[in-house]
Amino acid sequence: MSNDILIINSTILPLSHKEAKLIEKGFISISDGAISALGPMADLPDSSKAPKTINASGHLAMPGLVNTHTHAPMSLFRGLADDLPLMTWLNEHIFPAEAKSVNREMVYWCSKLAAAEMILAGTTTVADGYFLEDSVADAFTDCGIRSVVAQGVIDFPAPGVPDPAQNVEAAAHFIDRWQGKNNLITPAIFCHSPYTCSPDTLKRAKETARQKNASLFIHLAETKTEVEQIQEQHNTTPVRYLNSLGILDKDTVCIHCVWLDEEEIEILAKSGAKVSTCPQSNMKLGSGIAPLKKILAAGISVGLGTDGCASNNTLDLFSEMDLCAKLHKVRDLDPTALPAKTILEMATIGGASALGLANDIGNLSPGKKADIILLNLMQPHLQPFYHPDLLVYAANGADVSTVIINGKIVMQDRHILTQDINETMEKVRKLADCF
Ligand SMILES: [Zn+2]
Repeated sequence: MSNDILIINSTILPLSHKEAKLIEKGFISISDGAISALGPMADLPDSSKAPKTINASGHLAMPGLVNTHTHAPMSLFRGLADDLPLMTWLNEHIFPAEAKSVNREMVYWCSKLAAAEMILAGTTTVADGYFLEDSVADAFTDCGIRSVVAQGVIDFPAPGVPDPAQNVEAAAHFIDRWQGKNNLITPAIFCHSPYTCSPDTLKRAKETARQKNASLFIHLAETKTEVEQIQEQHNTTPVRYLNSLGILDKDTVCIHCVWLDEEEIEILAKSGAKVSTCPQSNMKLGSGIAPLKKILAAGISVGLGTDGCASNNTLDLFSEMDLCAKLHKVRDLDPTALPAKTILEMATIGGASALGLANDIGNLSPGKKADIILLNLMQPHLQPFYHPDLLVYAANGADVSTVIINGKIVMQDRHILTQDINETMEKVRKLADCF
């Protein structure tokens, strides 16, 4: 049997069964970018060979993590303005900083920095929403990370779209340029929010996304202030408002969903809309805690997101998993709330489902794309390894030693192979000189 890559002697967590079962000593064979077989070493055919064999003894192989929401270029604003409420942070710091610094060069290099950070921490798929999104897509393609890249739509002059009347058209052209262009990129539309897009803009954006069979992302019900604003302007709540405009369906990803009542959760569930939860960003901006237990109980697909690293301030989904689990336990005063297995699902197959990519990624099984990460278990904080729950409560991004995306090794022994990371950091430091 001929393969491109053969991983041997690895502990494997396929996450393809109801139980988070481990294969103690197993193999994974990869050919043409996909997983061709996996199982215990005893089942590895003697004839198996590959140009590249990775002896992963002492390591755990698991599906690459899926970050369902970020703004990669905002890595330039990491630590620029901390400890502020969302509206002050946005209006007095982030929007002015963006006006001063955002151009194609900034978007490209800061997206490469974000991609490096994510790959080093085991993220293999990311959903991004920003402006000049072509440059994000170029950066992600160069870095070899799988992505859903969504062109921003907002009713203000924006980078690359000085006339807001052209915002939806610009997003439509963006989708046309990237749909089917390469097998790592899925283009989409990102409406900033119900308070920065008019009803007409929202409806036209959704109509365009439908016509082009693309997802629509939107920040929704993030803060109490937003709920008050929508109540004042439209005499209803954010989810009811979007529902009345016909925005919610299975291809709509609602980001945050912190301030929902029970009926709004039902509306979301009925519509088939997906949720991206970003607990660390919600904590840092003091926005609140999403009612995740109820959202999950309603059968809604939920993915985990870091949000932009200006409001986090890292893109490490391992730390996001740990924090998400513990936050909901302390909120409910219930240690059984959001168990580690549920969190692991959110960061893998749940995220893949939210992004419409569950047929391709999200777990390790034959036929799926080979998006695989190897974690080094031979470290004090990961011993003994009784159970995969430890990945949520003890592992961190720096434990990831090797990352394979679409059957290609993009990081090996913590060295990124798809870009010169020193060059990228130097470029970003120079861009930061304007502040
Ligand atoms: Zn966001």
